[in-house]
Amino acid sequence: MKNNIAENLKVIHQRIAKACEKYRRNPEEIKLLLATKTVDPERIIKAFEAGETLIAENKIQEVRAKFEALSSYTHENHFIGHLQSNKVKYLIQNEITCLHSLDRKRLANRLQNRLEFENKEMDVLIQVNTSQEKSKFGIAPEKALDFVKYVAQKDRIHIKGLMTIGLFSAEKERVIPCFQLLRKLKEEIASENIPGVEMKELSMGMSNDFEWAIAEGATIIRVGTSVFGERPYPDSYYWNEK
Ligand SMILES: *Cc1c(COP(=O)(O)O)cnc(C)c1O
Repeated sequence: MKNNIAENLKVIHQRIAKACEKYRRNPEEIKLLLATKTVDPERIIKAFEAGETLIAENKIQEVRAKFEALSSYTHENHFIGHLQSNKVKYLIQNEITCLHSLDRKRLANRLQNRLEFENKEMDVLIQVNTSQEKSKFGIAPEKALDFVKYVAQKDRIHIKGLMTIGLFSAEKERVIPCFQLLRKLKEEIASENIPGVEMKELSMGMSNDFEWAIAEGATIIRVGTSVFGERPYPDSYYWNEK
């Protein structure tokens, strides 16, 4: 992989186009979200200059640290990390437009209260733990429907779909069932026609497995390493924050 962000992005878009052709998906249905944890604003700006507009962070500290430097560039910032419920105010302050990791009642309650207080609204995805690994966050699949119904009662929070981090494995046979499960849940929840709940987005797939996610219906793929290179910390550092 080259240390050239624009080149790397070209390769990603080619991979997306190829996967769409192979799995008969419309490329316009798939958004590329850049996972920018540990990436400096200067390098994120290179991606903006190459035409990208959607980024996401895992930690509030990084959102805040980069906010100023990125503010003059047209873009949208999502949040994909585990979030402590006492930090919801920073999502709003830093203009996060979608929280991908809503996975528990306490967080939903705090978010609703803060949004009311600020007179704002926010899009969310419900994070589901499709791999059933203890180390990952997300609501258990069998509890997802009830949780969606609970969150649906909160008028400031708009559910747009589901998110998952698949199993970490190079084995297709083990990763694909995670994506299939998320797709199945999306269909089940959509068929309930819960007022205010949209099930249009499936946020799934990363650098190593997004083709399989596209095959299973992903509408947002989250890519970091393939664009920006290897990170200095293991992902567990981001995914185990308490
Ligand atoms: C870091 C991260 C990604 C991107 O992973 P890569 O393997 O670097 O493409 C996607 N989703 C989440 C939640 C992440 O934390």
